[in-house]
Amino acid sequence: MFSLTLAGARAALRRRDFSARELTAAYLGAIEALNPKLNAFITVTSELALRQADAADTALARGEAENLTGIPLAIKDLFCTEGVRTTAGGRILAPFVPPYESTVTANLLRDGAVFLGKANLDEFAMGSSNMTSAFGPVTNPWTRPGDASPLVPGGSSGGSAAAVAARLALGATATDTGGSIRQPASFCGIAGIKPTYGRCSRWGIVAFASSLDQAGPVARTVEDCAILLGSMAGHDPKDSTSADRPVPDFAAACQRGVKGLRIGVPREYRSDDMPPEIEALWQQGLAWLREAGAETVDVSLPHTKYGLATYYIVAPAEASSNLARYDGVRFGARTEGADLTEMYESTRAAGFGAEVRRRILIGTYVLSAGYYDAYYLRAQKVRALILRDFTEVFARVDALLTPTAPSAAFAQGERMDDPVKMYLNDVFTVPANMSGIPGLSVPAGLDAQGLPLGLQVLGKPFDEETVFAVGAALERAAGFTALPSLRAGG
Ligand code: GLN
Repeated sequence: MFSLTLAGARAALRRRDFSARELTAAYLGAIEALNPKLNAFITVTSELALRQADAADTALARGEAENLTGIPLAIKDLFCTEGVRTTAGGRILAPFVPPYESTVTANLLRDGAVFLGKANLDEFAMGSSNMTSAFGPVTNPWTRPGDASPLVPGGSSGGSAAAVAARLALGATATDTGGSIRQPASFCGIAGIKPTYGRCSRWGIVAFASSLDQAGPVARTVEDCAILLGSMAGHDPKDSTSADRPVPDFAAACQRGVKGLRIGVPREYRSDDMPPEIEALWQQGLAWLREAGAETVDVSLPHTKYGLATYYIVAPAEASSNLARYDGVRFGARTEGADLTEMYESTRAAGFGAEVRRRILIGTYVLSAGYYDAYYLRAQKVRALILRDFTEVFARVDALLTPTAPSAAFAQGERMDDPVKMYLNDVFTVPANMSGIPGLSVPAGLDAQGLPLGLQVLGKPFDEETVFAVGAALERAAGFTALPSLRAGG
C-alpha cells in the first residue's frame, strides 16, 4: 500500500482493491510509528480522518468518486481548518482553533480528500530548515549513509515534505513565499510546485507576506502534484488577488512531452560556491530535455542577483504588517500586563520566537518614515525589474531550468548562528515569488553523500501546464527511485 503513488492509490480505491478506511488506517498507523522520530505532524486528526474515509467509502460504493476521494493528505499547519487547531508553528497561535476552513482545504474536502493532520513548519513559515517551529524541529527521513546525525527537511514546509517522503501521507499542502515548497521538496527527494501567484486562494491561510504567499502541493511525483493542484486551485471571490481563470487539466499536461519546446538556461543561476554535483546535475537535466526533443538556449536574467536582497526587504515589511494582528486580543495566546500596552508587549514578547522577531524588526525598520524610500520603495522598483527580466526571456523560451537549492539537506543546528547564511538557501527560489511565476522542483539525483537534489522548472505566468510537461519529462529521464532510510512500509 505504501509504495503506491497518489495516482496509483486512487486507481486502487476505485477498483476497491482496498477501502479508504483501510488506506487511512494504514497511514495513521505509520504516523503513530514514525512521527515520534520525525515530528512531521503537530496535530494528528485520527477520528476525523477515519470519518472522512468512511464517507469516501460510501461515495466509492455508489460510484461517485471525485478527484481525491479517499486520499489521505497532510495539511501544513498554516491552513485554517475548521474546529482543528491551527498553530502556524508559533507559540502565539498554539491555542487557536479556527471557526472556518481555508478555501484551499475546503476545495480538497469538496473533492473527497481525507485529512490525517496538521504538518509542522517554521514559525509563521519563516525559515528554510524547520528549526524555528515552536513545536520542535522536523527531522528529514533521509540520512547520510553511515552517519546518523539528523538532517533538516528544509523549510518552511518541512513537515509536509518529510511526511510525504517518509510515506506518512500521499501528498500534502504547502505554501511558498520565497521557496518553502520547492526547497523542502528538493531536500526530501519529492516533487513540489509553487503555482502562479493567484492560482490558489490565500483565504484562510495564515498570512506571512501577502504579495508573495502562494499555496501549492508536495507529493511523490509530478503527476501527483498535478492531481492535487487541480483540486486546490480556482477562483475565490474571498481573495481579491485570486485569478478568475479556468483550472486546466494539469495531470493531462504531464503527458505532453517537450518536443519542440525551448528551455532557457539563466546564466546568473551559476554560483561559484555551488557544489559541483549540483552544476553537473543541472547539465544532466538539460541533456535529458534535449534527448526528449527540447532545445536549450542560454539566457540572462540580469536582476536576479538582487532577488535575495529585495526579498528580505519586501517579505519582512509585509510580515511586520500582517503580524501586527497578534496582540493578545483577537487571536491565540495572551500574557497579561498592568495596562493595555504592557499586555500587548508581554503577549508579543512571549509569543514570538527569535526569527519572527527579527523579521518584524527588519520590516518595521524598512517601512519607517526615514527609511521607506531607501529600502522598501527601492526594493519594489527592483522587484519590477526582476519581473521584466522574466517577461523578456519568456518571449523567447517556454520554460527555464535551474537547480532548486544551492545545497542538499544540511544537519540540524547548522547555519543557525548566521541568518544571512540561512537566507542564502533561497537564492534560486525567490525570483519566482518576486515575479509571481510558477516553479516546480523535481527530484533528479543524489549528491556524493547520497542525499537528494532537485531541479527547478520555471514557467510563464499561468502556464503551469508547460511546467508540468517539462517536469514530468525530467522525472521520466531521471528515474529517481532512491528512498529515505526512514519510511513507512519498509
Ligand atoms: N526561507 C524563506 C524565508 O524564510 C522562504 C519562506 C517561505 O517560502 N515561506 O522567508
